[in-house]
Amino acid sequence: MKLGIDVHGVIDRHPIVFSNMANAVIGGGGEVHVITGAPETDEIKDHLSDLGIPWTEFFSITDQLLFEEYIPTYSETGGMWFPDDIWNPMKGHYCSLHNIDLHFDDTAEYGQYFSTPFALWPQDDSVWCPN
Ligand SMILES: [Mg+2]
Repeated sequence: MKLGIDVHGVIDRHPIVFSNMANAVIGGGGEVHVITGAPETDEIKDHLSDLGIPWTEFFSITDQLLFEEYIPTYSETGGMWFPDDIWNPMKGHYCSLHNIDLHFDDTAEYGQYFSTPFALWPQDDSVWCPN
């Protein structure tokens, strides 16, 4: 199978869950696609390794948009920003292009752009143990 996993709010909140899942998928001959807005840097890859997350592919929305020569807006702190109508469909398009069987993400707005299965990972910790 081909599994997609977001980093921020998903892997970095529940790393043991996704370490187990990613290792199982790769162990079974599948692919794990880390699919994130953040640029592909040594810092984020080291962070994933430290969390015990193996992956076979890394997709960055930021890197892809820069590659496509979209011009970002820069914040005062140097952060890059792209318009929502450009940014929000990117993960869904990537998953469709690469036939991802299931993608986990904590941003509900992305779901409408998926034709492949999209699993919303809750942002609210209280849903896991409601009592
Ligand atoms: Mg996220």
